[in-house]
Amino acid sequence: MITDISEFLNYIHGEQPSIIKSYDGAYMTIIPEDEIAIANQSKDIYFIVNSGGVNDDSISRFNALFIDLDCGRDEQDNYYPLDITKVYKGAMMMKLESFPVQPTLIIETRNGLHVYWCLSGDCTRAEWQLAEDNIIHHFQADPKVSNPSRLLRLPFTQWMKDKDNPFDVSIVKFNDVNYTVAEITETLIQWGLWVSVDAIKKYIILSRPPKPPLVNATEMVELIRVKDIAGLRAILAAEPIVFPCQDDFYKYLTTEIDLAEYLGVYGKTFNCIFHDDEHPSAGITTLDSGQLFYKCFASSCDFRGNIIRCTERLTGLNRPQAIKFLKEIYGLSIQDTPWQQQQRELLLENKRILRSTELDDSYPEIYKLIKAYIPMLCILHDTAIDGCRDETYSTNENEVIFFNSLRHLTKQLGLSVDSNHRVCDRVATLVFLRLLCKLPENAVPEKYLARARLEKKDNQSIINFFSIPSYSDRTLMDSLERTLLYRESHMTQRGFSRELLARSFGEDIATECYPYRKGYHNTKTSNDRTIEIHQIVSNLLKKQGYATEGEIVNILCQECKISLTQAQTQLKKSLQEMLDSYGLVRIRTNKDIKSHFNIPGNGYPSIIIYEAQSAA
Ligand SMILES: [Zn+2]
Repeated sequence: MITDISEFLNYIHGEQPSIIKSYDGAYMTIIPEDEIAIANQSKDIYFIVNSGGVNDDSISRFNALFIDLDCGRDEQDNYYPLDITKVYKGAMMMKLESFPVQPTLIIETRNGLHVYWCLSGDCTRAEWQLAEDNIIHHFQADPKVSNPSRLLRLPFTQWMKDKDNPFDVSIVKFNDVNYTVAEITETLIQWGLWVSVDAIKKYIILSRPPKPPLVNATEMVELIRVKDIAGLRAILAAEPIVFPCQDDFYKYLTTEIDLAEYLGVYGKTFNCIFHDDEHPSAGITTLDSGQLFYKCFASSCDFRGNIIRCTERLTGLNRPQAIKFLKEIYGLSIQDTPWQQQQRELLLENKRILRSTELDDSYPEIYKLIKAYIPMLCILHDTAIDGCRDETYSTNENEVIFFNSLRHLTKQLGLSVDSNHRVCDRVATLVFLRLLCKLPENAVPEKYLARARLEKKDNQSIINFFSIPSYSDRTLMDSLERTLLYRESHMTQRGFSRELLARSFGEDIATECYPYRKGYHNTKTSNDRTIEIHQIVSNLLKKQGYATEGEIVNILCQECKISLTQAQTQLKKSLQEMLDSYGLVRIRTNKDIKSHFNIPGNGYPSIIIYEAQSAA
């Protein structure tokens, strides 16, 4: 236990003389405690932590590593109220708790904490300074409190900067453990907390008082929310930069861009922009990785994130969109690699083919079939172009892998969620026609799978991975082959379904073509009766080119040994599904149709024929 000033100084300095100083007084080496108390009635009292003298060069013994965790002041340069400093101190205590080297002493002051790791054994000035700077960097502590002859506030005195509201400076934690600098250094290295000299220098530069923002938070946040790129560009006025690779760009974006300026916030703590904040409860810190990081300490909000996450939250954009948005605001771009250039050109050329008359001129069969799907195919091309980021995310044919969810694609097409299954059928059609390639998850690099899951924060969506081949003559020849198969099997856009595909070409082809879909189980959902009815219809069509409902019901009664009513009910139930699945239509007959199909008898019954025939 340390119960008073002399015990404290004795613990820190041992045999060495202690040097204390009042705010504007002289250095003193003897400690008349009553004199300290008198001086403390109007002045703050400090002591020099290390021993040997009063300036840096004269320090000959290093007694402790120390940091000053200070809550700072508000925009008007006033101290924060005590309830806010309390939140700050609590957060810092938690951070200290998780630090692998437990401090020897934690002193609470009005505005923060002074933390000591007391040292045993000798060390050089350079060793001490490096360890000191590393700990300061780790805690984002005040970088000014880092020189060998530093004065720190003496516990068991009062903080007197505001004489009307003094604050007791006291020891809040004492662990009677001393360390060598080498032990601390090794522990930090082991825990991966030891950083480069560059990082330390940068932290000191970053810790210079920030300049007041050009535009306040309310206005900046509003501009970001409404995605006013031009407005933001004008305010931030950044010089365009082209980066040689993605990593350099990402590092610059998250560590160099002034997050405070971007959000228009100012000061060590400020009112949180993500919740209705009456007191300043948020701040921006630098992580060990160097990333500038927004943190809100209000438990109801607890928002934390770098510039990308802040942007996502404010705009509602997803991660790639948010990055694109930031690129535009700050004029940042990444130089294409040869692979990226090649892939972009390929995809843009595909798009040009789709939009020109080229497809119609050379492959009219394909064009007729996919005409209605071209807008969707173009959207998928755009997604692929955006996805040309990393060469490791490509197929064996070097084609870029990209992902999309049916839900998102439906939204991109401006359709309602109800149209999900239609979009699913269209995607499957394009895959069947070999104009789009759906990749099974085991063909996607694990790293990309993980990233895709991260980027699709919307867990409701099921992600599908795709690639797009170059629409070379060979690809289009393959596509034509499939187009003809599609025709021969009497498939139609409306009737295209997984069941139909599975029945016509086998389960493997259906699985290959159909996107994974929420709620879709890989079982045969079509009921067996429908298949039986289709069999009957199919035979009738072969025999006479049409089928009437009366004929179907009669045959159904005989073959399945069910009553007429049962057969009628069954046909009613199965009719629409069968028509959709097999490319059939039900039409009312008239005189001409009756004679065309050679339909006997009186009256004009409804008949079922192939959809393709109905046009004729
Ligand atoms: Zn908040």
